[in-house]
Amino acid sequence: MTTKANNQVCAVCGGELQATTITHEEKRDSHIYLFQNVPAEVCTACGEIWIDEEVLQQIDKLIEYGVPIGKVEMPVYDFPRAVAPAH
Ligand SMILES: [Zn+2]
Repeated sequence: MTTKANNQVCAVCGGELQATTITHEEKRDSHIYLFQNVPAEVCTACGEIWIDEEVLQQIDKLIEYGVPIGKVEMPVYDFPRAVAPAH
């Protein structure tokens, strides 16, 4: 067990980091991979999110070898051509 997360401060502003879990999007080529409940630290001062190198490596492994729990379909818009009906 490592306790270093408890002593870390935000590298952006020096604020206090709080351990939490986040939903993380990772892009590879044209694919987006979604990870739920990823352990991370959030700066209580500026809101910057920090993910351990260890966790990022785990994410890399999951993209290559992991079995996803599901897939989501995402609506895609080409902004210049997108038309929204008036309401
Ligand atoms: Zn900060």
